[in-house]
Amino acid sequence: MTNRVYNFNPGPAILPEPVLKEVQENLLALPGVGMSILEISHRSSTFENILNETINNLKKLANIPENYKILFLGGGASLQFSMVPLNLMPPKNKADYIVTGSWSKKAVKEAKRVGAVNIAASTEDENFKRIPRQDELKLDPDAAYVHYTSNNTIYGTEWNYIPEVGNVPLVCDMSSDIFSYPFDVSKFGLIYAGVQKNLGPAGVTLVIIREDLLERSQDTLHTMLNYKIHAENNSLYNTPPVFAIYIVGLVAKWLLNLGGLEAITKLNDEKAKLIYDAIDNSNGFYKGHAEKDSRSKMNITFRLPSEELEKKFVKEATEQGLVGLKGHRSVGGLRASVYNAFPIEGAKALVEFMKDFQNKNS
Ligand SMILES: *Cc1c(COP(=O)(O)O)cnc(C)c1O
Repeated sequence: MTNRVYNFNPGPAILPEPVLKEVQENLLALPGVGMSILEISHRSSTFENILNETINNLKKLANIPENYKILFLGGGASLQFSMVPLNLMPPKNKADYIVTGSWSKKAVKEAKRVGAVNIAASTEDENFKRIPRQDELKLDPDAAYVHYTSNNTIYGTEWNYIPEVGNVPLVCDMSSDIFSYPFDVSKFGLIYAGVQKNLGPAGVTLVIIREDLLERSQDTLHTMLNYKIHAENNSLYNTPPVFAIYIVGLVAKWLLNLGGLEAITKLNDEKAKLIYDAIDNSNGFYKGHAEKDSRSKMNITFRLPSEELEKKFVKEATEQGLVGLKGHRSVGGLRASVYNAFPIEGAKALVEFMKDFQNKNS
């Protein structure tokens, strides 16, 4: 087998090695089926079993209550920026948005095409280096829903609490931290996530929606944009991304075998602590972008004393098999994405590299 590097890419991102091996092993013919997962009908009992097992394993993993539907949709998390307001905003046609980064801003842009958007809080004038506190949220008790982004992939900040929003349904873009810690699904009306960061390959978006909210989807909506129709058809109204769903199923099994969300959150805490400690103990050579109480455990963003050194860092790290560390162009600097599948050995290797680099360049 060819050597795998430590993959710090922000998304699409690293997948668990046992999952990739199983995909490889069964790619020519699924056991007992004689055809590849890439070749079977989405209406076959084989695929229907895979789909339903995936749904059940996700429900088990996150204790998702019975009154929630799990959907697998196309169009990326970005299509949800439109589908959420199209389905959930009427008839009030107003919603609250909490703006904590570029993805939240994109969600606002689409929501404004549907109705009135109240920005309940924004940390943009602080370059999104922190998450707003509960007492800063200016919520409208009559809003159709409240939307927020649990982890800001680009800025490296993450909510360490679920906002209290009363009886208004809470909608969350969890694309970059879904299933990286245990959380109470019953606090949410709708959760969505492009799976290519923490849960699978590019090509499918997971939507978890409370059943009563399906009644908001109006018949006048385009069929493919209608949550209710996707729910009634168990995500099989049209051909779903079969291969991507299959891999999400394998990742869910991998997480369950590991001990579920309690087990993965411990590993994630450990990995993040190693790297943040290296930043904090560098006498200011490395500077974190996020304020301490808003730090993401998935995307760790930091800067070096100069852009020249940042370029050099990326180049030399890549040569040593630490790949994907360049920060997003809107923040600059470095970003280490350490999603569920990222191994602790990779975090240790990065810390060693950081110390070594500092010694040679300060
Ligand atoms: C990556 C990302 C998106 C966009 O996902 P696509 O599937 O590319 O549309 C949206 N929100 C967050 C938080 C992300 O990290």
